[in-house]
Amino acid sequence: MHPTIPARGYAATSRRTPLAPFDFARRAPGPRDVRLDILFCGVCHSDLHQARNEWAGTTYPVVPGHEIVGRVAEVGAEVTRFRAGDLAAVGCMVDACRTCPECRMGLEQLCQGTITFTYNSPDPVLGGMTYGGYSDRIVVDQDFVLRVPEGLDPAAAAPLLCAGITTWSPLRHWRVGPGQRVGVVGLGGLGHMAVKLAHALGAEVTLFTTSPGKAADARRFGADAVVLSGDPAALKAHAGRLDFTLDTVAAPHDLDAYLRLLKRDGTHCLVGLPETPHPSPHPFSLVGRRRRLAGSMIGGIAETQELLDFCGARGIVSDIEQIPMPDINTAYERMLRGDVRYRFVLDLATLDR
Ligand code: NAP
Ligand code: ZN
Ligand code: ZN
Repeated sequence: MHPTIPARGYAATSRRTPLAPFDFARRAPGPRDVRLDILFCGVCHSDLHQARNEWAGTTYPVVPGHEIVGRVAEVGAEVTRFRAGDLAAVGCMVDACRTCPECRMGLEQLCQGTITFTYNSPDPVLGGMTYGGYSDRIVVDQDFVLRVPEGLDPAAAAPLLCAGITTWSPLRHWRVGPGQRVGVVGLGGLGHMAVKLAHALGAEVTLFTTSPGKAADARRFGADAVVLSGDPAALKAHAGRLDFTLDTVAAPHDLDAYLRLLKRDGTHCLVGLPETPHPSPHPFSLVGRRRRLAGSMIGGIAETQELLDFCGARGIVSDIEQIPMPDINTAYERMLRGDVRYRFVLDLATLDR
């Protein structure tokens, strides 16, 4: 049996129980592993979906958390890329097959072999399931550990590991840049990073929101226009204008209304993953202008490092509300009400170790 080390975190033990302290074992670091003492962990809406089994794939107990920034505490004998004391990060994946065509292209997030997510994923070393970043320490193969650029606030950089890369990857894939009009739907954790990144890439950005109170923040993040999505006339004024729309909403909604905003050959890309699906759009919303409905999931490891380095050079981080670990359950309730400005980040120093 593989040797283990003790760890402590917060877990949900059923879809209805609040998260509570939980002791468990992690693998002792092997020759290629990095052990991080976790400093901060962002709170993603995917954590809430999975803690409450909204995607119907949760094995309990589940320790969520995949926006992890920590200090390297120990490295294995073959680790060359990190040293004790480095600031480092872990995102949504901790391993992949490394041999399939997607892995060879650096698209580990689309691995067609076995991918190991940071939590709620079969653990190939210890058996059982992987446990995430709502915890004191984590052990990860060096190839899935990221470098955090100097100068970025470590707490505010944590959300780059999911909210950042999940919006960066489609913006890059669809070659968003100067001269393009980009729509962002929803100003939550993902949405506010999408606005900042699309603006930094040089696009003209329009935010679509259900929350009138978020307009000023959206402009501060780089939005050129803000549209209240509940107002059909306001939406209609943007018909046929956009090149690309990134839809981050965590609840089902009408896609036809957004597809009609696209130009010829425009793309509406879904990243939000609600518990129940959106109503299927009408083909008439697509065919007349050869529009596309697409989806995207997180991003590869090299691409995540590219994003971190881009943010390091530009000084881009998430706007966060730092909270102590025991506040996680109220944070989930606030996230459900859209009351998040714009990412909760757990301070793991408050975990009773
Ligand atoms: P979040 O912080 O809760 O933001 C979601 C935003 O959607 C809200 O702030 C709100 O913005 C808007 N919204 C409108 N109606 C809503 C409703 N009825 N319920 C909830 N939100 C509503 O969530 P997030 O962390 O950004 O994640 C967003 C979605 O992306 C989640 O489904 C998550 O699981 C998914 N996700 C996917 C990936 C991927 O790889 N594809 C990665 C991470 C997360 P306004 O107030 O501006 O309307
Ligand atoms: Zn996430
Ligand atoms: Zn693979």
